[in-house]
Amino acid sequence: MTAPEEEEERRKGIRDFVNARRNTNNTNNKTLCLIVVDVQNDFMLPSGALSVANAEEIIDDVNYLVDIMTAEKDLVIFTQDWHCPKHDSFASEHRGKKPFDVVEIEHDNEENATTTLWPDHCVQNTKGAEFHEKIRVPASAKVIRKGFRKRVDSYSAFVENDKRTETGLGEYIRGVNKGLELSSSSSYSSNNNHNSNGDGTPTRIITDCIVVGVAFDYCVRFTAEDARELFDTVVVLEDLTRAVGLGHSREEARAAMEKKGVRIV
Ligand SMILES: [Zn+2]
Repeated sequence: MTAPEEEEERRKGIRDFVNARRNTNNTNNKTLCLIVVDVQNDFMLPSGALSVANAEEIIDDVNYLVDIMTAEKDLVIFTQDWHCPKHDSFASEHRGKKPFDVVEIEHDNEENATTTLWPDHCVQNTKGAEFHEKIRVPASAKVIRKGFRKRVDSYSAFVENDKRTETGLGEYIRGVNKGLELSSSSSYSSNNNHNSNGDGTPTRIITDCIVVGVAFDYCVRFTAEDARELFDTVVVLEDLTRAVGLGHSREEARAAMEKKGVRIV
Protein backbone atom coordinates (compact mmCIF):
# COMPACT_ATOMS: atom_id res chain seq x y z
CA MET A 1 0.00 0.00 0.00
CA THR A 2 1.15 3.53 -0.73
CA ALA A 3 1.34 6.08 2.07
CA PRO A 4 -1.88 7.87 1.02
CA GLU A 5 -3.66 4.52 0.83
CA GLU A 6 -2.42 3.63 4.30
CA GLU A 7 -3.62 6.97 5.62
CA GLU A 8 -7.05 6.49 4.05
CA GLU A 9 -7.19 2.98 5.50
CA ARG A 10 -6.43 4.35 8.99
CA ARG A 11 -8.99 7.09 8.59
CA LYS A 12 -11.62 4.63 7.47
CA GLY A 13 -10.86 2.62 10.60
CA ILE A 14 -11.33 5.71 12.78
CA ARG A 15 -14.52 6.69 10.95
CA ASP A 16 -16.01 3.20 11.18
CA PHE A 17 -15.13 3.00 14.86
CA VAL A 18 -16.83 6.30 15.70
CA ASN A 19 -19.91 5.48 13.64
CA ALA A 20 -20.21 2.09 15.30
CA ARG A 21 -20.14 3.75 18.73
CA ARG A 22 -22.81 6.17 17.60
CA ASN A 23 -25.06 3.32 16.54
CA THR A 24 -24.81 1.17 19.65
CA ASN A 25 -28.29 2.10 20.77
CA ASN A 26 -31.41 3.36 19.09
CA THR A 27 -31.22 7.07 19.87
CA ASN A 28 -31.61 9.26 16.81
CA ASN A 29 -29.09 11.89 17.69
CA LYS A 30 -26.57 10.26 19.94
CA THR A 31 -23.74 12.43 21.10
CA LEU A 32 -20.30 11.07 21.93
CA CYS A 33 -17.56 12.58 24.05
CA LEU A 34 -13.94 12.85 22.98
CA ILE A 35 -11.19 13.76 25.44
CA VAL A 36 -7.85 14.73 23.90
CA VAL A 37 -5.28 14.61 26.68
CA ASP A 38 -2.33 17.01 27.01
CA VAL A 39 -1.26 17.41 23.36
CA GLN A 40 1.14 20.15 24.42
CA ASN A 41 4.64 21.11 23.26
CA ASP A 42 6.45 19.86 26.36
CA PHE A 43 5.01 16.37 25.81
CA MET A 44 4.69 16.28 22.03
CA LEU A 45 7.89 17.86 20.72
CA PRO A 46 11.09 15.78 20.61
CA SER A 47 12.72 18.79 22.30
CA GLY A 48 9.94 19.13 24.88
CA ALA A 49 10.76 19.24 28.58
CA LEU A 50 8.93 15.95 29.18
CA SER A 51 9.00 14.58 25.68
CA VAL A 52 6.93 11.44 25.05
CA ALA A 53 8.64 9.30 22.38
CA ASN A 54 7.06 9.52 18.92
CA ALA A 55 4.14 11.60 20.18
CA GLU A 56 4.04 13.71 17.00
CA GLU A 57 3.08 10.59 15.05
CA ILE A 58 -0.46 10.76 16.45
CA ILE A 59 -1.20 14.35 15.41
CA ASP A 60 -2.75 13.76 11.97
CA ASP A 61 -5.09 11.05 13.20
CA VAL A 62 -6.06 13.01 16.31
CA ASN A 63 -6.90 15.99 14.09
CA TYR A 64 -8.99 13.76 11.87
CA LEU A 65 -10.88 12.31 14.84
CA VAL A 66 -11.47 15.80 16.26
CA ASP A 67 -12.72 17.01 12.87
CA ILE A 68 -15.26 14.24 12.31
CA MET A 69 -16.57 14.41 15.88
CA THR A 70 -16.80 18.20 15.83
CA ALA A 71 -18.73 17.97 12.56
CA GLU A 72 -21.27 15.73 14.32
CA LYS A 73 -21.49 18.16 17.26
CA ASP A 74 -20.03 15.63 19.65
CA LEU A 75 -18.61 16.93 22.90
CA VAL A 76 -14.90 17.56 22.27
CA ILE A 77 -12.67 18.28 25.26
CA PHE A 78 -8.98 19.11 25.36
CA THR A 79 -7.03 18.88 28.60
CA GLN A 80 -4.05 21.10 29.28
CA ASP A 81 -1.46 20.44 31.97
CA TRP A 82 -1.09 23.91 33.48
CA HIS A 83 1.42 24.11 36.33
CA CYS A 84 2.34 27.15 38.34
CA PRO A 85 6.09 27.86 38.45
CA LYS A 86 7.80 25.86 41.23
CA HIS A 87 5.06 23.24 41.20
CA ASP A 88 5.52 20.50 43.79
CA SER A 89 5.60 17.82 41.07
CA PHE A 90 8.86 19.25 39.70
CA ALA A 91 12.04 17.46 40.84
CA SER A 92 13.76 20.84 40.94
CA GLU A 93 11.66 21.70 44.00
CA HIS A 94 12.93 18.72 45.98
CA ARG A 95 16.45 18.90 47.34
CA GLY A 96 18.63 16.00 46.22
CA LYS A 97 15.97 14.55 43.92
CA LYS A 98 16.02 14.12 40.18
CA PRO A 99 13.31 13.75 37.55
CA PHE A 100 11.44 10.42 37.61
CA ASP A 101 12.32 9.73 41.28
CA VAL A 102 9.32 8.54 43.28
CA VAL A 103 8.81 10.29 46.60
CA GLU A 104 6.27 10.35 49.38
CA ILE A 105 3.99 13.31 49.22
CA GLU A 106 1.54 14.58 51.79
CA HIS A 107 -1.98 15.31 50.77
CA ASP A 108 -4.49 16.41 53.40
CA ASN A 109 -6.44 13.22 53.25
CA GLU A 110 -3.93 10.56 52.48
CA GLU A 111 -0.93 9.12 54.31
CA ASN A 112 2.11 7.60 52.64
CA ALA A 113 1.02 8.63 49.16
CA THR A 114 3.80 8.55 46.59
CA THR A 115 4.22 10.55 43.46
CA THR A 116 6.63 10.69 40.56
CA LEU A 117 8.76 13.80 40.20
CA TRP A 118 9.05 15.30 36.74
CA PRO A 119 11.27 17.77 34.94
CA ASP A 120 9.79 21.29 35.02
CA HIS A 121 7.09 21.15 32.34
CA CYS A 122 3.92 22.83 31.09
CA VAL A 123 4.43 25.97 33.15
CA GLN A 124 1.52 28.38 32.70
CA ASN A 125 1.90 30.85 29.82
CA THR A 126 5.07 29.29 28.45
CA LYS A 127 5.66 27.83 25.00
CA GLY A 128 5.91 24.36 26.51
CA ALA A 129 2.35 24.56 27.87
CA GLU A 130 0.84 25.55 24.51
CA PHE A 131 -0.87 22.97 22.34
CA HIS A 132 1.36 21.63 19.56
CA GLU A 133 1.04 24.01 16.63
CA LYS A 134 -0.23 21.29 14.30
CA ILE A 135 -3.04 20.27 16.63
CA ARG A 136 -6.37 21.78 15.59
CA VAL A 137 -8.41 22.90 18.59
CA PRO A 138 -11.91 23.84 17.38
CA ALA A 139 -13.48 26.98 18.79
CA SER A 140 -16.33 24.85 20.12
CA ALA A 141 -14.03 22.56 22.12
CA LYS A 142 -13.95 22.78 25.89
CA VAL A 143 -10.43 23.24 27.30
CA ILE A 144 -9.92 22.03 30.84
CA ARG A 145 -6.74 23.04 32.65
CA LYS A 146 -5.38 20.90 35.45
CA GLY A 147 -2.44 20.75 37.84
CA PHE A 148 -2.40 24.47 38.59
CA ARG A 149 -2.58 24.07 42.37
CA LYS A 150 1.00 24.13 43.65
CA ARG A 151 0.67 21.28 46.10
CA VAL A 152 -1.35 18.79 44.06
CA ASP A 153 -0.55 17.18 40.72
CA SER A 154 -3.41 16.17 38.44
CA TYR A 155 -3.08 13.32 35.99
CA SER A 156 -6.83 12.87 35.54
CA ALA A 157 -8.98 15.37 33.70
CA PHE A 158 -11.66 14.85 36.35
CA VAL A 159 -10.10 14.60 39.82
CA GLU A 160 -6.68 15.72 40.99
CA ASN A 161 -4.18 13.32 42.50
CA ASP A 162 -5.45 13.93 46.03
CA LYS A 163 -8.50 11.99 44.77
CA ARG A 164 -10.71 14.75 46.12
CA THR A 165 -10.28 18.04 44.27
CA GLU A 166 -12.48 18.10 41.20
CA THR A 167 -11.34 19.88 38.05
CA GLY A 168 -14.88 20.86 37.06
CA LEU A 169 -15.05 18.61 33.99
CA GLY A 170 -17.41 16.12 35.61
CA GLU A 171 -19.79 18.89 36.58
CA TYR A 172 -19.59 20.31 33.07
CA ILE A 173 -20.51 16.99 31.47
CA ARG A 174 -23.36 16.42 33.92
CA GLY A 175 -24.64 19.88 33.01
CA VAL A 176 -24.40 19.19 29.29
CA ASN A 177 -26.32 15.97 29.81
CA LYS A 178 -29.12 17.78 31.62
CA GLY A 179 -29.34 20.33 28.82
CA LEU A 180 -29.42 17.69 26.12
CA GLU A 181 -32.09 15.79 27.97
CA LEU A 182 -34.32 18.85 28.11
CA SER A 183 -33.84 19.95 24.54
CA SER A 184 -34.04 16.64 22.73
CA SER A 185 -36.14 14.30 24.88
CA SER A 186 -39.05 14.37 22.45
CA SER A 187 -36.94 12.82 19.73
CA TYR A 188 -36.06 9.79 21.83
CA SER A 189 -38.07 6.63 21.45
CA SER A 190 -39.90 5.32 24.49
CA ASN A 191 -37.90 2.10 24.66
CA ASN A 192 -34.63 3.95 24.95
CA ASN A 193 -32.96 2.98 28.23
CA HIS A 194 -31.31 6.35 28.52
CA ASN A 195 -34.48 8.34 28.16
CA SER A 196 -35.54 8.46 31.76
CA ASN A 197 -34.93 7.03 35.19
CA GLY A 198 -38.65 6.92 35.69
CA ASP A 199 -38.44 9.31 38.62
CA GLY A 200 -38.04 12.51 36.66
CA THR A 201 -34.31 12.88 37.27
CA PRO A 202 -32.20 13.71 34.24
CA THR A 203 -30.36 10.73 32.81
CA ARG A 204 -27.18 10.44 30.83
CA ILE A 205 -27.38 11.00 27.14
CA ILE A 206 -23.69 10.91 26.39
CA THR A 207 -22.99 7.27 27.11
CA ASP A 208 -19.69 6.83 25.33
CA CYS A 209 -16.34 8.51 25.83
CA ILE A 210 -13.24 8.14 23.65
CA VAL A 211 -9.85 9.06 25.12
CA VAL A 212 -6.69 9.80 23.11
CA GLY A 213 -3.47 11.80 23.62
CA VAL A 214 -0.49 11.57 25.96
CA ALA A 215 0.66 9.93 27.98
CA PHE A 216 -1.01 6.53 27.80
CA ASP A 217 0.44 5.44 31.15
CA TYR A 218 -0.32 8.60 33.16
CA CYS A 219 -2.85 11.25 32.17
CA VAL A 220 -4.69 9.13 29.58
CA ARG A 221 -4.87 6.26 32.08
CA PHE A 222 -6.27 8.25 35.00
CA THR A 223 -8.63 10.26 32.80
CA ALA A 224 -10.05 7.07 31.30
CA GLU A 225 -10.39 5.40 34.71
CA ASP A 226 -12.28 8.37 36.16
CA ALA A 227 -14.42 8.70 33.03
CA ARG A 228 -15.97 5.35 33.94
CA GLU A 229 -17.87 7.19 36.69
CA LEU A 230 -19.71 9.23 34.06
CA PHE A 231 -19.99 7.08 30.96
CA ASP A 232 -21.27 3.59 30.24
CA THR A 233 -18.45 2.95 27.81
CA VAL A 234 -14.94 4.39 27.85
CA VAL A 235 -12.56 3.49 25.05
CA VAL A 236 -8.89 4.37 24.73
CA LEU A 237 -7.71 4.32 21.12
CA GLU A 238 -4.19 3.11 21.78
CA ASP A 239 -2.85 3.99 18.32
CA LEU A 240 -3.74 7.59 19.07
CA THR A 241 -1.74 7.63 22.30
CA ARG A 242 1.94 7.34 23.21
CA ALA A 243 3.44 6.29 26.55
CA VAL A 244 6.19 7.66 28.80
CA GLY A 245 7.22 4.13 29.76
CA LEU A 246 8.81 4.34 33.21
CA GLY A 247 9.54 0.84 34.53
CA HIS A 248 6.37 -1.15 34.01
CA SER A 249 4.11 1.90 33.78
CA ARG A 250 2.67 0.87 30.44
CA GLU A 251 1.67 -2.62 31.59
CA GLU A 252 0.39 -1.32 34.93
CA ALA A 253 -1.73 1.28 33.14
CA ARG A 254 -3.22 -1.32 30.85
CA ALA A 255 -4.09 -3.65 33.73
CA ALA A 256 -5.54 -0.84 35.87
CA MET A 257 -7.69 0.49 33.06
CA GLU A 258 -9.00 -2.94 32.14
CA LYS A 259 -9.82 -3.62 35.80
CA LYS A 260 -11.97 -0.48 35.77
CA GLY A 261 -13.73 -1.63 32.62
CA VAL A 262 -11.99 0.73 30.22
CA ARG A 263 -11.75 -0.76 26.75
CA ILE A 264 -8.38 -0.42 25.03
CA VAL A 265 -8.54 -0.90 21.29
ZN1 LIG B 1 2.30 17.79 34.75
